[in-house]
Amino acid sequence: NTFTHEFNNASFKGKTSFPVGLYINGEFVKGKKGQMTDVIDPTNAKKITSVCVATKEDVDITVKAAQKAFDTQWGLNCPGNQRSKLLLKLADLIEQHEDEMAALEVLNTGKPFHWAKDGDVRMALDTFRYYAGWADKISGKVIETTNEKFAYTRHEPIGVVGQIIPWNFPFMLLSWKVAPALACGNCIILKPSEFTPLTALLFAKLAHEAGFPPGVINILNGTGQNVGQPIAEHMNIEKISFTGSTLTGRKIMEAAAKSNLKSVTLELGGKSPNIIFDDADIDKAVNWASHGVYWNVGQCCCAGTRIFVQENVYDEFLKKFTEKTKTVQVGDPFAQNTDVGALISDIQYNRVLDFIDSGKKDGATVHYGGEKLKKEGYWIQPTIFTNTRPDMKIVQEEIFGPVCVIIKFKDDADVIRQANDTSYGLAAAVFSRDLDRALQTAHKLNAGTAWVNCVNQLHAQIPFGGFKQSGIGRELGEYALENYTAIKAVHVNF
Ligand code: NAD
Repeated sequence: NTFTHEFNNASFKGKTSFPVGLYINGEFVKGKKGQMTDVIDPTNAKKITSVCVATKEDVDITVKAAQKAFDTQWGLNCPGNQRSKLLLKLADLIEQHEDEMAALEVLNTGKPFHWAKDGDVRMALDTFRYYAGWADKISGKVIETTNEKFAYTRHEPIGVVGQIIPWNFPFMLLSWKVAPALACGNCIILKPSEFTPLTALLFAKLAHEAGFPPGVINILNGTGQNVGQPIAEHMNIEKISFTGSTLTGRKIMEAAAKSNLKSVTLELGGKSPNIIFDDADIDKAVNWASHGVYWNVGQCCCAGTRIFVQENVYDEFLKKFTEKTKTVQVGDPFAQNTDVGALISDIQYNRVLDFIDSGKKDGATVHYGGEKLKKEGYWIQPTIFTNTRPDMKIVQEEIFGPVCVIIKFKDDADVIRQANDTSYGLAAAVFSRDLDRALQTAHKLNAGTAWVNCVNQLHAQIPFGGFKQSGIGRELGEYALENYTAIKAVHVNF
């Protein structure tokens, strides 16, 4: 079974074609039960294609193949410079298909093409090349003990790694997981979200072409229940790296604890504060804040959806932010001037509408937006709430849609207390012309990332991850190598 699609629109004219099977042990296969699931275009709720889905039995078969590859052709049997070469070749192939990859991401997620290409696919390329650079530089230390004896440490690959990702940045988050795991010498079994399997399948085709040994890279589509849970519970998967909701993160950790105590990296939800001090450049802060809320239709774990504005600039900010929101172009993701596309699914669409209703019922003011858009597909207007209370659901919970709350604060101590009043701790932003004030505030916020006079900056070399219930461990940068290596100490007595 092959999926072939011709794109003919303002952003990309061209074709994509790849098998829709499970990618196991270097082959595209149907899976033991031969089941398929539909993939939906969120802009019109119509079916794009069907892809194969795996079962628990397929997970078992894949783990065996990955173990064999690890023991014979990968892991300690493949030198770092060889892994680096393959990762660079893969990156080159992705680059040769970058328009196709971006267009496919747009088709499956409804996000604007220019963001998919210049954001998601670019970042994925950077990530593959960054970790290709690390593959032959992972080394331990020599540590002296007593009487001229010594020990040395080795950072060894872990083995077979399970990786589960969500639907909001399907290809970019695939790269955050796959690139460091392979660079460190692990074999991977990746499960994309059941809503967004398409770019992972094109990726599998390119990885095959790059020449990775069979069993090193495996892609299993399917639901959390049928594929994700068996991966999390598997006795021969030594590590699981998960990105998704805090609720599912808890289940993954529980499954890991109840099975083989596999180590766990979790990248979870957020409810990020964005703080606008009275000495900020308000026009610039408005532009950044708008990007913070509406990028990816707000389906972004680090979205700055709680905007705190100092009381003496509150009215000016609110007026300018509302004007800016009115100019946000919602529409055809392939059109070149589109800022915001569709939400991913009917579930997410109804969830966001429920949040908007709850805000209204709790007595908050819909200052702008709050309405459905279009008849077909999953479209919601950019939405601003004011007059909120700290205990409201729209202030506390992750909405994952184009919805923000704008809250007034008095002084620095007041805003730090309010910003930290959340169970999450993924990211935060601070806007001020006073560097000392901005940095003092950044240090006091409970968040794994703090942006000063900017938002949503992500780089392959900078770690990303959460405090509190936003996660455990860090992805990206040198820090991610810790996720995918086990340290062995060798004591030498001659
Ligand atoms: P989700 O938790 O519903 O699903 C994520 C993935 O987990 C999917 O592939 C799903 O099939 C799988 N899954 C579901 N139940 C499972 C189970 N019991 N066992 C194993 N796997 C299971 O999340 P979502 O709705 O796809 O994505 C949105 C969430 O992801 C948001 O909360 C968002 O904040 C978070 N996210 C976090 C980051 C980060 O880096 N911190 C990045 C992107 C998204």
